[in-house]
Amino acid sequence: MTELLKTHGLSKTFGGLAAVSGVDLAVEEGEIHCLIGPNGAGKSTLFKLIMGTYPPSAGTITFRGTNVTEERPYQRVKKGLSIKMQTPSIFKELPVRQNIHIALQHHVTKQQLPTEEDRLLGMLELTSDATKAAGALSHGQQQWLEIGMALALKPSLLLMDEPTAGMSPEETFRTGELIQKLNSGGTTILVVEHDMAFVRQIAQRVTVLHFGKVFARGSISEILADPRVAEIYLGKTHDH
Ligand code: ADP
Ligand code: MG
Repeated sequence: MTELLKTHGLSKTFGGLAAVSGVDLAVEEGEIHCLIGPNGAGKSTLFKLIMGTYPPSAGTITFRGTNVTEERPYQRVKKGLSIKMQTPSIFKELPVRQNIHIALQHHVTKQQLPTEEDRLLGMLELTSDATKAAGALSHGQQQWLEIGMALALKPSLLLMDEPTAGMSPEETFRTGELIQKLNSGGTTILVVEHDMAFVRQIAQRVTVLHFGKVFARGSISEILADPRVAEIYLGKTHDH
């Protein structure tokens, strides 16, 4: 097993608050790794540290054996890191195909463009909606289009922050299938998720974050069987 991404002692404080605190995380090449934890646990902050949106207060980030802690976000993207943010940033007034076209245009040759567009549209099951304005798609389809735009960069590691937020159970399940399809195609995936049914559907390994620290880690069955993990979920008040 090769470690694609590794963080060591990664920390981020905001004022006096330790949002992320001494996190050691390893993502193996080829896996689907889920990051779970109650609201405010530091999951999104950890993602922003990995992508380089924030500089860490302490610790290191290694990608493919290279220390990228000091690198700018675009340099990390060039190395194969890509993120699907929580809020879609698609161009709603433009056709679906045009959105994919824009995402792809600097990454493939002019000759390859139509083929690559077709391939992505097919994978996202958006072929029959290609000429629709992106804003006319369902909420779930807009999220898939956003995933497609992140994929245009051909990432080796795709980070997804709550990809099923606001989706129907049917859309959530199909998102799980899409993630598994991407993973079979060779993309390593690190996903933040709340929906435990969804985590059960896709996860191979799970890391649990609580108050900015790694609280537990293991296979999905180990995590589901861990009474301490159940407690931090049940012990919290529903705030979203
Ligand atoms: P999660 O994604 O697990 O819900 P976050 O990473 O968004 O958690 O937040 C972790 C903690 O850090 C929370 O207490 C949040 O209020 C705080 N936090 C996140 N971003 C900032 C910021 N830019 N400035 C100050 N505090 C922040
Ligand atoms: Mg978050």
